[in-house]
Amino acid sequence: MKALQYREIGSAPQVVDVPDPEVGPGQVLLKVTAAGVCHSDEFIMGLPAEQYIYGLPLTLGHEGAGIVEAVGDGVTGVKPGDAVAVYGPWGCGRCHMCAQGKENYCLNAEAEGIRPPGLGAPGSMAEYMLVDSERHLVPLGGLDPVRNVSLTDAGLTPYHAIKTSLPKLGAGTTAVVIGTGGLGHVGIQILRAISGATVIALDVNDEKLALAREVGAHDALLSNADAVRAVRERTDGRGADAVFDFVGIQPTVDLAGGMAATEGDVTIVGIGGGALPVGFGRIGYDVAVRTPYWGSRAELMEVLDLARAGAVNVEIETYTLDEAPKAYERLHEGRIRGRAVIIP
Ligand code: NAD
Ligand code: ZN
Repeated sequence: MKALQYREIGSAPQVVDVPDPEVGPGQVLLKVTAAGVCHSDEFIMGLPAEQYIYGLPLTLGHEGAGIVEAVGDGVTGVKPGDAVAVYGPWGCGRCHMCAQGKENYCLNAEAEGIRPPGLGAPGSMAEYMLVDSERHLVPLGGLDPVRNVSLTDAGLTPYHAIKTSLPKLGAGTTAVVIGTGGLGHVGIQILRAISGATVIALDVNDEKLALAREVGAHDALLSNADAVRAVRERTDGRGADAVFDFVGIQPTVDLAGGMAATEGDVTIVGIGGGALPVGFGRIGYDVAVRTPYWGSRAELMEVLDLARAGAVNVEIETYTLDEAPKAYERLHEGRIRGRAVIIP
């Protein structure tokens, strides 16, 4: 079958022929219907050899949806023909975190070498993919896989981040979304759907700011040194009750810390390497700073419910598997509007 692989440190991903995967006990084989392109793929492909831990060659794709093609011995919860989305943050299934459905925070994954598809295990950018357990599948329930595959990360990750801050986001509050790309443009819609907050979006790109307004941001401003003042001006000096930073580089983390209200939340989702000094005089009183990773299985179901209710629509650009390297080029150039989706 065809697959998109990252094969050599520092090189562009390539479409190659690989053997068809065969389903083993407990596993599920999917015919992939859609696979999403995430900025995290670009991040790992930019790592130097000494920091790269994902194995080579790596079939990319940690956002996946498919139709069940075959099931291994012992699989009883899904059957051939079922349309499913893949819950990507695979865990052991036995520890305290996994027992709560929080496999994103599995206590044993690292020690047992369990890695998500596309981030260690072969991912969804291929004609077929193996899922290690039926536990890692969620029914699509009538949702179009191409339009919704990105909810498995670009939806789930902001949903988890926002849900944790919900007690601070009642009516009359303000939430700021920094970076309105794949995750951010879904985050804006989730905030509008489940919180009472006024949503201010920040980005460096005018087209992304236009998209932010289109998907529901009340205000969209350039992300620059003036943004702290602009947000304080719009909140009678109080600042933002929650800031979600979907970029995470030093300038955006500085903005996030600078505009957080007393008792506000700063949630750094982007893995741009920025750091926020926390301590008296460094940040507002009682500001909580968090660095969440992905989300729980239950939250994935909830995000798909939001999509079924019509509250969340992912803006997509589609590509064939052969065109997938071009999608990564466009992502690198910052030209993707919303999310790029590969249809194998
Ligand atoms: P993306 O490329 O689709 O979007 C990034 C957006 O940030 C773009 O709109 C870009 O114009 C904007 N931007 C760039 N510099 C900016 C600045 N200085 N100020 C404001 N906006 C700026 O990326 P994505 O796929 O949405 O991913 C966003 C980040 O989240 C990446 O760092 C990715 O690796 C990370 N991520 C983290 C998790 C997690 O679990 N924590 C999960 C998925 C992705
Ligand atoms: Zn676990």
